[in-house]
This record gives sequence, C-alpha cells and structure tokens, in this order.
Amino acid sequence: MKIGFIGLGNMGGPMAANLAKAGHEVSGFDVAGVEIDGVTSVETGPAAAEGADVVITMLPNGSILRAVADTVIPAMKPGAVLLDCSTVDVDSARTVAQQAKAANLGALDAPVSGGIGGAAGGTLTFMVGGSDEAFAIAKPLFDIMGQKSVHCGEAGNGQAAKICNNMILGVTMIATCEAFALADKLGLSREAMFDVVSTSSGYSWSMNAYCPAPGVGPTSPADNGYLPGFAAELMLKDLRLSQQAAEAADADTPMGEEATALYARFVEDEDGLGQDFSAMLPRFEKRGRG
Ligand code: NAD
Repeated sequence: MKIGFIGLGNMGGPMAANLAKAGHEVSGFDVAGVEIDGVTSVETGPAAAEGADVVITMLPNGSILRAVADTVIPAMKPGAVLLDCSTVDVDSARTVAQQAKAANLGALDAPVSGGIGGAAGGTLTFMVGGSDEAFAIAKPLFDIMGQKSVHCGEAGNGQAAKICNNMILGVTMIATCEAFALADKLGLSREAMFDVVSTSSGYSWSMNAYCPAPGVGPTSPADNGYLPGFAAELMLKDLRLSQQAAEAADADTPMGEEATALYARFVEDEDGLGQDFSAMLPRFEKRGRG
C-alpha cells in the first residue's frame, strides 16, 4: 500500500519504520524534520497524503489532530482511509471522522496501548472506532504494527475504550500503591503483600504484571528507578481525557476524578514529571495522613 505517515515521534517513528520494513511505500512528515529508516521524508502533511491509500496520524493531542486533518483531508484521494492512532478526546475523533466522511474518505480512530516498546516491536494493541469497510482496509496494517486490533464500533469508540481502560488503570495503580504503603506501616513485608494480593481478590494488572514495589513480582519500572515505562504525565493526559468525556456525557466518575487530581498534583506540584506512573508508591511511602 501507499501510506502517508504524519507525526514521527517516539511512537509514530517506529510504527512507520515497521510498515516500510514490511514492504509498504511510506511517505512521512513531522514538523520536527525527523528522518526514519525506509521512510521517504516529505515537506508537508498534504504531500505525505497525496495518492496514499491510508494516511496515518500519530500526534500529541486533539487540537493538533484537527489542524492536521484540515490540511490533509483535501489532499487525500477519494476512498482512502484517514487512520488516527493518537490518543485524543472523543469529540475531536468524531469531528475529524465526520469531516473525512463528507470528503468521501474512510476514517478510523485507533489509539494504542503497548507504549514505545510495543511500537518498536510491532506488538501494539489497537482499539478501533469506525466503519467495517475502513477497518478491513486498515487491518493488514494493524497486523504489522501490532499483535491485536479490536473493532469497538462507530467513530470515537476506539478513544472511548482507551480512556475507560486507562481510567481503571490509574485508579488501580493508586489503590495498589497506597495499599503497599499502608502494609509497610503495618509491618507486612512487600513479598508477603505481593504473594497474598496477587493471588487474592485485590489482584490486578497493576499488582500482578507491573508491580510498583521494587524487587517484588515481575520486572517492572520500579526495578529501574521508576524510569518510564508509562510516564506519569501520559497517565495524567489520559485521565484528563476521561474526565472531559465524563463531563460531556454526564457520567459520574468519582474515582476517575480523584485519580486525575492526584496525578495532577504528582506531576505538576511534586516530583512526578518524567517518572513512571507507578512512582506513586515512593510518593505514598514518604507521606503520612496530614
Ligand atoms: P511524541 O511527542 O514523541 O510524538 C509526536 C510527534 O508529532 C512529534 O515528533 C511532533 O514533532 C509531531 N508533530 C506535532 N505537531 C505536528 C504537526 N502539526 N504535523 C506533523 N507532526 C507534528 O509523542 P508520542 O509518544 O509518539 O505519542 C504520540 C501519541 O501516542 C500521543 O497521542 C500519545 O498520547 C499516544 N501514546 C503514547 C504512548 C507512549 O508510551 N509514548 C503510549 C500510548 C499512546
């Protein structure tokens, strides 16, 4: 396929490289002028989009996506698919999809989980919103860039799935970390705490697969000085998107709201910026109730 790729950062760069490696003809554009192995660099977004069967965007946020879509959609050939893999607000995803549809294009929102390691290794999971036709066109590309793609329904549903998942993740990570810090103060060893909880009803991905306590459970960012992994500021971004969506849909999400406030404090007023999101554990460790 002929592919345009816009946004060649930490995630987009390796994703574009994997598509090129698999034999697709990839034209890439990034405002930062990035060069990627096997990808032809072009000077503008519309130049990357011209003649492409699929145009992939991997951008920082919804307002940048909207601005890029405004310039790229008119340059795309009828029947082509605009495939946004960024994590953005549901409203931006649905607006861009409508705009693409009006121009006789297919549109998919397909945010990912799996992080930079998943992007490099081609093992991402895609959560996809949009039509069956557009999904069928993009499926072979998902299979190269990832190991799983779940079609979640209409436009915007990929973003909805992503922020609901990450709201659960933020809340359970905080719960796991505060419980470890309480267990410390009650004199329980971390190993005992892990052995019990990971096989009891308090288990979760945060405890079992990404344990925030160093030296306990499987290897995780806690064993690497809390270097990300999944940075606290990216968790904060996703939690804020969940609260923006909850506000728009009139959904009551008290735990999501609390998790958003706590990650905001951690990232903006404390030392959370640049640390893994599981560094909530040393944060709780240092604190008392006051
Ligand atoms: P990044 O900042 O490394 O990359 C974004 C790229 O977009 C940058 O290279 C930037 O120069 C480029 N860009 C910005 N404005 C542009 C424009 N108008 N035209 C062309 N290029 C432009 O970010 P990232 O880590 O690659 O994340 C990309 C998206 O993936 C985000 O939405 C993020 O939330 C999501 N995501 C990231 C991770 C992760 O672990 N990094 C995991 C899952 C999802």
